[in-house]
Amino acid sequence: MEAIKIKDKTIQYKKVYRRIRYPRLEFKTGCLVVILPENYCGEEKLLLKHKEWILKKVHFIEDALKEVKGLELNSNIDKATFTKKVEKIVKEFEKELDVKVNKIFFRKMKTKWGSCSSDGNITINKLLMFLPVRFIRYIVFHEILHTIHRKHNTEFYNVIKKKFKNSEKIEKELFSYWFLLVEREGYGMI
Ligand SMILES: [Zn+2]
Repeated sequence: MEAIKIKDKTIQYKKVYRRIRYPRLEFKTGCLVVILPENYCGEEKLLLKHKEWILKKVHFIEDALKEVKGLELNSNIDKATFTKKVEKIVKEFEKELDVKVNKIFFRKMKTKWGSCSSDGNITINKLLMFLPVRFIRYIVFHEILHTIHRKHNTEFYNVIKKKFKNSEKIEKELFSYWFLLVEREGYGMI
């Protein structure tokens, strides 16, 4: 882990070299990852250029971490009930969005709540079963919407915000749950 001081904060980050042309920054499950082209040096300059964006993300994560203590996981649910619940939600949103999901897969994933493939299959993280149903609905809707809008662009988020008025709060709470599960499952942060 490397670290950089931005304003009054020491921010840790992980440096990764890849065969790419341009450097980029991303937050992966709460940790800043700096992805650099091979032979790139002086990432501090890059980090300082994006300091506002980094600080915004760091504050969001800190807030989410503070909320973890008040959360509880739902352990009274079995896999079959969860599967049925998801299938029912998928049907509801298929109708609402006038789309058809090809197949639903369930997997335990370490870095995301769900995904959607280009052929219309959605994968739902099994760990979602421990969360209240409103989060399951949020993630399922998100993945189904990807069958219409592939990318996380403005059109995509406009639909999300229209459907879930408190989407920002839900995103933050999802993050808190993520930290709680990471702790419970013993996952590393990356
Ligand atoms: Zn997405």
